[in-house]
Amino acid sequence: MNQDMGSDPRMSLKMTDRMSREDCFQFYCGPSVPCFTECCRKLDLALTPYDVLRLYTRLDKSPSEFLEDYTVIKAGSRHGFPEVFLKMDVDGEKLCPFVSKNGCTVYEDRPGACRIYPLGRASSKNRSTDLNEEFYFVVREPHCRGFEQTKNWLVDEWLSDQDLEQYNRLNDQLMELYMLGFRRGSAQFSTQQLQMFMMACYNLKKFREFIFRSSFLTKFELSSEDIELIRENDVILLEFSFRWLKFALFGIPALKLKS
Ligand code: SF4
Ligand code: SF4
Repeated sequence: MNQDMGSDPRMSLKMTDRMSREDCFQFYCGPSVPCFTECCRKLDLALTPYDVLRLYTRLDKSPSEFLEDYTVIKAGSRHGFPEVFLKMDVDGEKLCPFVSKNGCTVYEDRPGACRIYPLGRASSKNRSTDLNEEFYFVVREPHCRGFEQTKNWLVDEWLSDQDLEQYNRLNDQLMELYMLGFRRGSAQFSTQQLQMFMMACYNLKKFREFIFRSSFLTKFELSSEDIELIRENDVILLEFSFRWLKFALFGIPALKLKS
């Protein structure tokens, strides 16, 4: 994971060349490694909307309680949207609030960034097909002894072992919004637009109340089945949030207005 290692953390990281899902790497992490939990401190750990949803559900908190107790919200990113970071404990060690000597106390619901390490994931446009192609790379952090272990993985096996498909699918939708924000250039979002983004991405309870207690549903063409899914299922609601934000902030017809 990307730790705050002092001067410039990127200088101490080593990254491999591009890898596909069929490529192999050597790594193991677990209680037997000498550095166990060493990486769960001094992190700049950005939380995506799906990370936040998993964590507040796990902790049986409301989204607002979770955001208040566990996160720091930072402005100033190049895409123009606020970013949510996990608040590290304020003592000198800056520990993740979820680490214990036995490991991660929210393991089944740990953030996507904790799952994917030691891999990184990116995409680039194939010039001949004009399609985005995803690729992976290994990020070697100097303190991590996991690379000394003899277990081999295919990238595809690692993604499946760490249960990353749903994280990647939902996080890609956030990345689309970031890209759209980035392409706006220097034009800033209004306070109201930023509030819409924070509500729809990070406070699904409030967004659901807004949908069902305002005239929202009279404006969009949605089937009764869709409406019930939005009412009952947080993941479906989050996907709907991304579509609404594309529509409301960028004028993309991701939702259809009633005629
Ligand atoms: S959430 Fe869990 S895995 Fe991630 S940094 Fe915290 S303790 Fe470590
Ligand atoms: S092996 Fe690497 S990822 Fe695992 S606990 Fe050690 S430093 Fe963290």
